[in-house]
Amino acid sequence: MPAPLRTCIGCGRKAARSEFWRFKSQRGAAPVFDPGDKNAGRGASLCQRPLCVEKAISRRAFERALKLKQPLSSGFKDQLRQLNAESGLKVNS
Ligand SMILES: [Zn+2]
Repeated sequence: MPAPLRTCIGCGRKAARSEFWRFKSQRGAAPVFDPGDKNAGRGASLCQRPLCVEKAISRRAFERALKLKQPLSSGFKDQLRQLNAESGLKVNS
């Protein structure tokens, strides 16, 4: 069985779940980084690269994909950019 494909909210690339960073939001609440893809709720996928982080932020892709009730906080954007700075670390559990 092939793994189901996910779509990057930054660039639209489709790939296996394991290639993306995963984020979850419950009922439109602020998203959380969910490296193991274990949390319940609506999910969004993002390529593990700076370009897609910035695209997703500038296009408000998180807000749309997760149906967020509020725009992303600056703290969350910082967290995203932090992830991208640390992309050499193992983020897929
Ligand atoms: Zn992407």
